[in-house]
Amino acid sequence: LLKKYVSGFPQESDLEVVTNETILLKVPQGSNAVLVKNLYLSCDPFLRVLMSKFAEPIYIEGFHLGTVIRGFGVSRVLESGHPDFKEGEYVWGITGWEEYSLITDTEKIFKIPFTDVPLSYYTGLLGMAGLTAYIGFNEMCSPKKGEYVFISAASGAVGQLVGQLAKLKGCYVVGTAGSDDKVEILKTKFGFDDAFNYKTEKSLRAAVKRCFPNGIDIYFDNVGGAMLDAALLNMRDNGRISACGMISQYNLEEPEGVHFLMKMITNRLTMKGFNVVDHLSVYPKFLEVIIPYIKNGEITYLEDKAEGIENAPAALVGLFTGKNVGKQLVVLADE
Ligand code: NDP
Repeated sequence: LLKKYVSGFPQESDLEVVTNETILLKVPQGSNAVLVKNLYLSCDPFLRVLMSKFAEPIYIEGFHLGTVIRGFGVSRVLESGHPDFKEGEYVWGITGWEEYSLITDTEKIFKIPFTDVPLSYYTGLLGMAGLTAYIGFNEMCSPKKGEYVFISAASGAVGQLVGQLAKLKGCYVVGTAGSDDKVEILKTKFGFDDAFNYKTEKSLRAAVKRCFPNGIDIYFDNVGGAMLDAALLNMRDNGRISACGMISQYNLEEPEGVHFLMKMITNRLTMKGFNVVDHLSVYPKFLEVIIPYIKNGEITYLEDKAEGIENAPAALVGLFTGKNVGKQLVVLADE
């Protein structure tokens, strides 16, 4: 439950885990709701935004004190009043952060089409994060072989897939992460050509320049702030910036300024923001592209699994200190 509205950095104590044994969950007669057992919960940065007092909706409403927070997850259908979902089937989409949920907004859950890949992937690689990487990179940046690609928060849920998609396109790829171990993972597990730890560099601008002596064609921005400035300064003519996320700004009362927007003009840049939920119709095409890569081992995915609902608050809060190594999810039950 949300215990306290968040301002500044989220804390574990902003959430509360309670046990309620008196609720008998059943699909009410005549309703098209779906009763599910939740198996995996997805920890996503946008949940922090929904924990603020006057949060604008982002696909779902902001959270209220004392109510169960919601987000993407993977669940098994126990009982269904909806013709599209049958008992025993697996779904991904919006569910409650609880062991069992009665889902009434069934337009936000989707039947899982392929069960011969890890089901937990539907919280990340085959869920919202994966689609975000595909839309924000392949569809918005029109990458070409040989182009120079820079990715921030590169080891996370979205970034690790963007990097691999860029390598598959034949690009030169550099990522950033907040620890030396993550930097190593980028280079050895995901095949990045280079990477740096942004927390230990004296100057971000110098670090980006060092990695891209000839400049950047595509910057996939997950963090905003000073990193966006450093990227702007190093963009090549006709470069593209995918404005995916700005996690460095979510906990600030006043967002930081961006100083080098004039590069948009001098270097004829394009910067495009997007919200993945406007692109859900692309999901079947995305699966067609990505599933074969997973099956033939050309795309791999790193998950960071917290166990049990009692560890969910720490897992969510950990996104904002970079505690997660790979896609952060919470395991609630066996498949
Ligand atoms: P991640 O799995 O990458 O987790 C967040 C990571 O961000 C942390 O692990 C940390 O990694 C990094 N981070 C945290 N705080 C800061 C900071 N102050 N400065 C720089 N880096 C920081 O998350 P996702 O892959 O799920 O999301 C990545 C971005 O994409 C987010 O901004 C998110 O909001 C956005 N997003 C946008 C969508 C859209 O539709 N536009 C949809 C989904 C996500 P480290 O510091 O180690 O690099």
